[in-house]
Amino acid sequence: MKNKTLEIKCPKCKKKFNYYQSEFRPFCSYRCKMIDLGKWLSEEYVISHKDQDDDESDSEISDENKDQ
Ligand SMILES: [Zn+2]
Repeated sequence: MKNKTLEIKCPKCKKKFNYYQSEFRPFCSYRCKMIDLGKWLSEEYVISHKDQDDDESDSEISDENKDQ
């Protein structure tokens, strides 16, 4: 009898899955594991996302030509 089953809920997505079938326990999948890992990583290194609130059209390239 090799088919052990233990149904648990993934701590990330709350999906039920067989504990023994997941390589990524206690998570159901690689993705959930990575999401959780990424979560504490991003808490550790607080990354600023200031670049994202500007449009690319607001670039500074035009400044280079001003001097001449
Ligand atoms: Zn999951």
